[in-house]
Amino acid sequence: MRQKQIELWVKRDDLIHQVISGNKWRKLKFILQHALKIGSHTIISMGGAYSNHLHALAYVGYRLKLNTVGYIRGERPDQLSATLQDLQRWGMELRFVSRTHYRELRCYKKHDELPGIEEGQYWLPEGGATELAMQGIAELVAEIDMDYDAICLPCGTGATMAGLIGAVSGEKQIIGFAALKGAGFLVNEVENLVVDGKQRQNNWTIKLDYHFGGFAQRSNELLLFIKQFEQENGIELEPVYTGKMFYGLFDLIKKDAIKPGGKIIAIHTGGLQGNRA
Ligand SMILES: *Cc1c(COP(=O)(O)O)cnc(C)c1O
Repeated sequence: MRQKQIELWVKRDDLIHQVISGNKWRKLKFILQHALKIGSHTIISMGGAYSNHLHALAYVGYRLKLNTVGYIRGERPDQLSATLQDLQRWGMELRFVSRTHYRELRCYKKHDELPGIEEGQYWLPEGGATELAMQGIAELVAEIDMDYDAICLPCGTGATMAGLIGAVSGEKQIIGFAALKGAGFLVNEVENLVVDGKQRQNNWTIKLDYHFGGFAQRSNELLLFIKQFEQENGIELEPVYTGKMFYGLFDLIKKDAIKPGGKIIAIHTGGLQGNRA
């Protein structure tokens, strides 16, 4: 960092709240407002057994006295993960579904599109990827009161990335780091979510080579990096998203793939509950 004259700042969205942290709160905020406004009593969504999205949703439901239902990918495990135990404790109804069924659920994007949905029920697609989520991400950008050259973030569904593209001004660079292996499809996903007219801006890229073998893989190299990062900076990371982003960012800086002398903001998107897995 010092050799390359790069200034790295971290936007600590992990500090928003102990449970609903990071981009999950950003994405949920306006969706919840909408759901409440139209009189919903139940919010239904989907995610994996370690999902930060369902974790945030279940907690919010518990606090706001809304019913929540989570479609969980895969069979019910004998021993529920710490995340699933929390969901249950906060009153979320867990519905375990096959991978095929789960994939089908991805087709429903609008809040009333889920087949069989009833009055008062509100469907929230995977990762909370909706237009309303984009507004929450825009608030994150509006809070940054310093000048910068590039902004970095980890990508899962790409919804947060799409929000940034819509909200960050065009001369700044946006660099996403994919958590999934083979995430080339993300570019399309992001383009579909970005507000009209901003898709073709060429100020954003998604780095696909820092997945460390896949979504939930934990390589020793990555874990070692995270430990060192925590010791040096006093900022906790997790291996699914934020660890990969910082690893990738440091690697790009080392390789001079990032212009020396610049100011970079990395968004800590939270997700630390996943560290219990
Ligand atoms: C969900 C999540 C992401 C990915 O966000 P998307 O909007 O799905 O791309 C990144 N970081 C953390 C910590 C997350 O929980």
